[in-house]
Amino acid sequence: MRAINTSWELEVGSAMERTRLLIIGNGMAGIKCVEEIIQLAPDQFDITVIGDEQQPNYNRIMLSKMLQGGAELNDIILNDYSWYAEHGIELITGERVIDIDPHARTVLTTAGTCRTYERLIIATGSSSFIPALPGVDLEGVISFRNIEDCSRMVEYSQRYKKAVVIGGGLLGLEAARGLLHLGMEVVVVHNTSYLMNRQLDEPAAGMLQAKLEGQGMLFRLSADTKRIKGKKQVTGLEFTDGTELKADIVVMAIGIRPNVALAKNCGLQMGRAIVVDDYMRTSQPHIYAVGECAEHRGITYGLVAPLYEQAKALAAHLCGHEHEGYRGSIPYSKLKISGVDVFSVGNLSEPGTETVIQQYDGIRRTYKRITAKNGVVHSAVLFGDTMEGTTLVGMVRSSASVSELAAMTAARADTGNDGSLSLVASMPDQETVCACNAVSKRTIMNTIREHNLQSAEEVRAHTKASGSCGGCLNIVKALVQYAHTDMGNTSQAAASPVQRKAPLCECTDLTHADVCSQLRELCESDPGLTTVAAMARLGWRSSTGCGLCMPAIEYYIDILHEKQGLQQTHKVSDHQDLATSGNSLYVMSHSADAMSGALAEQGRRLASRLSESWSGIVFPTRVNAVVNTINDPILVLHVQPIGLMRSPIGWEVYAGGHSHSPICEAQLVGVEEDEEHALQLLMACLQLYRHTSEYDERMSEWLDRIGLTTVREQLLDLEQRASLVDSIQRRVRVPLEQT
Ligand SMILES: Cc1cc2nc3c(=O)[nH]c(=O)nc-3n(C[C@H](O)[C@H](O)[C@H](O)COP(=O)(O)OP(=O)(O)OC[C@H]3O[C@@H](n4cnc5c(N)ncnc54)[C@H](O)[C@@H]3O)c2cc1C
Repeated sequence: MRAINTSWELEVGSAMERTRLLIIGNGMAGIKCVEEIIQLAPDQFDITVIGDEQQPNYNRIMLSKMLQGGAELNDIILNDYSWYAEHGIELITGERVIDIDPHARTVLTTAGTCRTYERLIIATGSSSFIPALPGVDLEGVISFRNIEDCSRMVEYSQRYKKAVVIGGGLLGLEAARGLLHLGMEVVVVHNTSYLMNRQLDEPAAGMLQAKLEGQGMLFRLSADTKRIKGKKQVTGLEFTDGTELKADIVVMAIGIRPNVALAKNCGLQMGRAIVVDDYMRTSQPHIYAVGECAEHRGITYGLVAPLYEQAKALAAHLCGHEHEGYRGSIPYSKLKISGVDVFSVGNLSEPGTETVIQQYDGIRRTYKRITAKNGVVHSAVLFGDTMEGTTLVGMVRSSASVSELAAMTAARADTGNDGSLSLVASMPDQETVCACNAVSKRTIMNTIREHNLQSAEEVRAHTKASGSCGGCLNIVKALVQYAHTDMGNTSQAAASPVQRKAPLCECTDLTHADVCSQLRELCESDPGLTTVAAMARLGWRSSTGCGLCMPAIEYYIDILHEKQGLQQTHKVSDHQDLATSGNSLYVMSHSADAMSGALAEQGRRLASRLSESWSGIVFPTRVNAVVNTINDPILVLHVQPIGLMRSPIGWEVYAGGHSHSPICEAQLVGVEEDEEHALQLLMACLQLYRHTSEYDERMSEWLDRIGLTTVREQLLDLEQRASLVDSIQRRVRVPLEQT
């Protein structure tokens, strides 16, 4: 490998004499660099950008969303023509640079345009990799890289029915989801035995596949394509095992190749891409490379966050600002399919790693696996609940120890809701939330407060956070919510009653109460109502909802079906023994160390009976219950949502406590002389809560809203209590009397 020439010094242009800066490629990395330069030194350069696409700079990441119907072309433009004009940038679109003369310092385009430069940035990105398969040049074979590819898919979908996507990675699945949205039948062909095999492990991939099958996607795994069939137009695929598949269009999504022909021809040092140092300098003076076409310390990146970091380092260097240089990135990825949350960071299967957390929650259908190497957090995969993604990226990046991970997990599990608010509350102010755009929690919180922002979209408009890959969207949403809970200055970690009057999420204008009452009517007229159908009928903005509304609607339908005595729509998981988190009942027993064995044993037995009988029952929030055999109102019971306490006259049932600041003490619901009646009272209380609370509403909030008197009236009415107990007994796996 030749050494990179760093012997020359950068001459920084004076305010009077602007340096001629030319950028080849009007894409994400090149223009990010220009944006940074404009911030640092607006008068230092005369800038020309030449791009071969027709449009001004747009967010390529959002092509997936556009194809899935979630965005229009206008929504994905990052900088429109007026931005270039405003900053005095010459923009040449629709022309391809075909030659760089490093001696004359000129470039030449297909249209014959010639420009000189003093500094040149090559930011030509990548192209889709098209393998040398017979039939790849047939009509109907499309890649997925730019706006034209999207337009072609839309056009074909109006004429044809059957689509095959080759490649079960991020891009392939997003393309497939887009084609489904366009009304096509879609089969994803993948050459390994499970999807997204670079990012996921088999359990996560299995859950992903099931979710996508639920949306109508079909799969052909472990399949090697031999040729694409057809005379002029695609008609199908033939696999190496001799089997075939019919297709009208084939989308190739099996990888990318850096666009480096120009650089190679002008003699730059090449590896897999253009070799650069920590300041993005190539082997030729005055020529730089940034983005997917650059190779830094042997690595080429295909994700936006690293490229933006490169762009920043290059801009600082060009402007003569102090910068430590680009040191490499921790790549992470998030699938952008509505209703499917998958996140991964690092390499799960790297030799020498060990799994430190592996949790599967069959009720919430979430999965988490985190690995460590030499005692530090190394990689993670999250399915279903990706809230912790941003924090985990930070941990992998900072080589956080496993004990820090344990603290984060405990903090999250220690709440009465899904933990998102406590997670954002526990994030340090300086922690980066949006790695793509380098936006910290502090910036977001300050912006929300300053402008009284009410939604993630508003935060995006002000800060760009969540505007690129969207991986931090749930965190931004949680921050908006958090900022409005006592202005986020306590650890109070749940939606306030005031917020419950706000729309359930950004997919709808309906509040929880509106959704409940409208769903009730829908369920009455359609006992087979599914979540997606409900969203369509309630006028949802997104056909599959988001991470906030999806579980809420699933929960409401489940409860409504339960009330109507209908079969469950969502069966309790067969893997219940693996469920270690989620909106379930978590029971513990509490006794003094010195307590006589019999009483402590009675407490443990009661706790285990409760656990066993409620196993697999879903709640609006996680509910901690405690059985306390010490005759003393100690804190452990009084700050839990529900509990039983031994007293001289029998057993007392308490409800509605929590330990978030300010602490809320549980209130006495009733007293029963014996164990069986006490258990029934507690069960009836839990069931009343399930039937009358809103999703994500803690028991303490519910009790405040409904009123202790109402709750007591209902539970002390023996007929009503029996009916509540009966309704849950019919639902549980193990009825109370069998425990
Ligand atoms: C559908 C899709 C979804 C994605 N989703 C994600 C995601 O969720 N998260 C994530 O981090 N990343 C995602 N990516 C990847 C991300 O978009 C890229 O990493 C990023 O756009 C690369 O930026 P770049 O500037 O290096 O290249 P580009 O954005 O491709 O820009 C390069 C530009 O240079 C032009 N060009 C090339 N050669 C020449 C030439 N000779 N003359 C003139 N112009 C030229 C190209 O046409 C292009 O416009 C996605 C990509 C796609 C296609």
